[in-house]
Formats: sequence, structure tokens, C-alpha cells
Amino acid sequence: MKNDPTIDPKERKALFLERLLDVDGVYVPQFYDVSYHEDGTIKERHLLHEKAKPTIKKQLVVDLDTMPYASKPIVPYLQPVHDRIVLELFRGCSRGCRFCQAGFVYRPVREKSLDTLKEQASELLHRPVMMRYPYISFNSDYKSYLLM
Ligand code: SF4
Repeated sequence: MKNDPTIDPKERKALFLERLLDVDGVYVPQFYDVSYHEDGTIKERHLLHEKAKPTIKKQLVVDLDTMPYASKPIVPYLQPVHDRIVLELFRGCSRGCRFCQAGFVYRPVREKSLDTLKEQASELLHRPVMMRYPYISFNSDYKSYLLM
């Protein structure tokens, strides 16, 4: 479907959105008719497609150690932005600051093991253009083995 030039782009998009109905955790607004109370809370919601799910269940990568990792990311090379690797340490944040949406939305905290991080860092560092070596996650200094 993706590369079929005979399919009209609008039809292709419609087919793509319909296929998303088979994927857990994905909400496609056009398949729902939602009305609201004056205070903004939901009054009624009707499903407009037989495959639309009444409840969208959040999906999580539970084990970051077995998750595929982009060891050879394809990016244009621009020194101020791209001469670095990005090594994700963990997802979620254990702090729970009241003002922080991400700290709540991305719960629970899931860490990569130290062995996985060493392996991925080693692989990424062998890329020829990589000069800097930041790591990424919420509140990265809070990573459990960085505290040891
Ligand atoms: S990500 Fe930062 S601001 Fe958000 S809960 Fe964690 S420490 Fe707090």
C-alpha cells in the first residue's frame, strides 16, 4: 500500500487510519464522535467504526533491554546537532514533581541494565562522526546505578 502509486493519497491515508484500529494503544479521533459538558468533561462518546475500541489502553515497552535500539541512526550530519550519540538510560521518572506532566504520563520507571547500556554505548561510539556522548532520559542523575 505504502508505495503503490495507483492509490489516491487520500484513500491511502484512510486505509492507513483504518489499519491503526488494529493497533492497541492508538487513538484515531475521526472514528469517535465526542460531545462535551460546559466544563470540558466528556458527556458522550460514540464509536463511528465497528473496529474502534471503546477504551484505548496505554501501551508500554516493559523491558528496555530487549527493545530494538537504533545503533546506526540515519540522520543528516550537521555538527552542532548530530555529532553525538543518544543513549537512553531509562523511561519514566521516580520523582513525581506535581507540575510535571511527563513524570506522570510516562510511568512506571523502566531502566536499562548496565550491561545493555555498555553494549549500546560501545556500538554507538564506533560510528565515525560521533564526537560527543550525552545520555538521555528524565532526571538522568537519578538512575539507580549512577547513585551507587
Ligand atoms: S522529569 Fe523532572 S520535573 Fe518531571 S517528575 Fe521527573 S524530576 Fe520532576
